[in-house]
Amino acid sequence: MNKNLPSINNKHRINTQQLDMPPRLLLGPGPSNAHPRVLQALSMRQVGHLDPRFIHLMNEIQSLLRYAWQTDNQLTIPVSGTGSAAMEASLANTIEPGDTVLIAINGYFGHRLADMAARYGANVHTIEKSWGEVFHPDELKTALEKHRPAILGLVHAETSTGARQPLEGIGELCRNYDCLLLVDTVTSLGGVPLFIDAWQIDIAYSGSQKCLSCPPGLAPLTLGPRAVEKLNRRRTKVANWYLDMSMLSKYWGSERTYHHTAPINMNYALREALRLVAEEGLEARWERHQANAELLWAGLEELGLACHVTDKSLRLPSLTTVRVPDGVDAKQVAARLLHDYNIEIAGGFGPLAGKIWRIGLMGFNSRAENVMLLLTALKSVLYGR
Ligand SMILES: *Cc1c(COP(=O)(O)O)cnc(C)c1O
Repeated sequence: MNKNLPSINNKHRINTQQLDMPPRLLLGPGPSNAHPRVLQALSMRQVGHLDPRFIHLMNEIQSLLRYAWQTDNQLTIPVSGTGSAAMEASLANTIEPGDTVLIAINGYFGHRLADMAARYGANVHTIEKSWGEVFHPDELKTALEKHRPAILGLVHAETSTGARQPLEGIGELCRNYDCLLLVDTVTSLGGVPLFIDAWQIDIAYSGSQKCLSCPPGLAPLTLGPRAVEKLNRRRTKVANWYLDMSMLSKYWGSERTYHHTAPINMNYALREALRLVAEEGLEARWERHQANAELLWAGLEELGLACHVTDKSLRLPSLTTVRVPDGVDAKQVAARLLHDYNIEIAGGFGPLAGKIWRIGLMGFNSRAENVMLLLTALKSVLYGR
């Protein structure tokens, strides 16, 4: 070697073992276990990101995403990154500095939306409910009347609380106030009934690792005609180069202009995840999630445990929040489930820290055998064998 080069520093050249991860059952708020067929697709050999076969696959993904979301929106794509990347894209593209944005906050992810919106220069207003409650359309109407926002942001499935925000009628309400409706569907897409077009949702995003049973790394985004019109009317550039849909849509549209390299194998995985949704059919998939959640709720009740969201019709089938009984250390129970049974569940945070556990039954993991296994393990940890 060239004698003028500095000497190699071997301090970080650690000796590591070949990768071997434990067989965890991921029943927390995400990620959920990927379907075996998705993992298989992930390891398929690569093609280039402008290869005709890849472009064909991109079209298939867009179509299957439109099915999963029940939308005809042209601009329906997976954003490179996790759910938060699509969350950020949804705001970065539709907010212009000075726009009034109203965020309905009833859990952690509403706070995140408000934080992100402010970073893009929005004049952010919020209405708040305690964690576990949902908004009534009349409350939203009063807030729309008061603030006259350009965008209303709501979380369909609040993973921090287990509550399902009913969306019927809200799209129509927003149109009456000339406001775009933006909805976080990260923990609902593929697990909870959701109709983007019929419910007149203008902007929605999701993630790959919750009810779609794909590893984290891609995040679906859909923009309806009213949102695209706002994007096209912008006077200022989208303040985020990587997530700029005016450029990205040229790669996913007919021009196929290079923007950034698509995560090839993650797209293979997402395609397989979406194929599984289409194969099963949305109705059967939603019913499966609901039936397994009800099995869990009944089992928890038998163990003397109460759900945090009392109204069953407002509980998410994909994420159940359970009240921690007095005198029980929530963290210790979760740690024992992981250590003794390879089962991951999560605790609460924010105002619900130490007060709840969060149990996810998402996508491939929403199966009766997983529910029975968890209930048995929970019983042994809480009450002894
Ligand atoms: C998980 C989640 C997100 C963020 O997704 P990441 O993949 O963690 O970036 C956003 N909103 C909700 C409701 C979520 O559950």
